Amino acid sequence: MLMGDEPTGDNNIMTRAPFLLAALGGLLVTAIQPALAANVKITPLGTHDGEFCALDRAMIFEDPDGTRILYDAGRSVRGAEDPRLGKIDGVLLSHAHGDHLGDIHASKANAGECGKPDFDVTDTPGSNTEKIVVATKAKFFVGGEMNSFFGSRIPAAGGDKAQTVTLRFGGMSKLGGVSIWSVPAVHSNGVAPAFLAGDLAKQMQANGLTADLGPAGGYVLRFSNGLTAYLSGDTGVTADQDAVIRREFNAKLAVLNIGDVFTTGPATAAYVINELVKPNAVIPSHANEAATKDGQLLPNTKTAAFKAAVQVPVYLPLSGKTMEFDAEGKCAAGC
Ligand SMILES: [Zn+2]
Repeated sequence: MLMGDEPTGDNNIMTRAPFLLAALGGLLVTAIQPALAANVKITPLGTHDGEFCALDRAMIFEDPDGTRILYDAGRSVRGAEDPRLGKIDGVLLSHAHGDHLGDIHASKANAGECGKPDFDVTDTPGSNTEKIVVATKAKFFVGGEMNSFFGSRIPAAGGDKAQTVTLRFGGMSKLGGVSIWSVPAVHSNGVAPAFLAGDLAKQMQANGLTADLGPAGGYVLRFSNGLTAYLSGDTGVTADQDAVIRREFNAKLAVLNIGDVFTTGPATAAYVINELVKPNAVIPSHANEAATKDGQLLPNTKTAAFKAAVQVPVYLPLSGKTMEFDAEGKCAAGC
């Protein structure tokens, strides 16, 4: 139809409405889609589907650009063949203790109790983490002295020496659109003799010694949508949670280990969140208890005490449930 060639009967709003709506819809979709696509997806990989269980540490962080990073595989990832892994581009390991490096794992979901999972596969003298690194061909970002340790073990296990990337405090690495920093954790980092071979391992075992791999660490991840997340690793309260995590990096989301004995307990972990890191949301981890039943937080747990003491939203890491976070650390879906 030519401009100015206005037919009379066909020019009312009712007949045009569907076209107007379609055009408006198109505009809305265009406006909303980049916001949806810009969320970071976080998927906990625990021992029991839909629960937050005693030995759960592992999480996958997926950048909006598709880069997928596995944090502390531990015992709850069901080996390198675990279908929940999918494509993995990067692997993080806070320190080499067995519950993080992975000395054992389960061959199937929901084995044993949430508070005391069954693990029927032994990974030592190798480890669950190293087998995943080799199978996925992922980059493996480690601090302390772990670069030389894994730099020789990854090739020995069938991987490439270049997969191990040294990342000590102060340095930054980039993987896809994700910037990765190592940050201090106040903890220890001895690898148990079970992960070692030969006479040295036997002598260490007999003498109750571990091999020190330098300082334990945590990580800061800055995603391509601008979200900055703090992954504490095992740590007590540290001044760096104020000076580095909040003031330097301005982390908006924290994944904090709260289990007590080995890390901050619920009350001190709440202090870390309320007074030092001050993020907009927190995901508790490493609770060393059955924190949920049927996906619901159980009363009289460390996790419930932590949640009650924290002033920002607390999102439980329920195994297999993907949560999405925007640049400000606000949960946009799945919480
Ligand atoms: Zn631990």
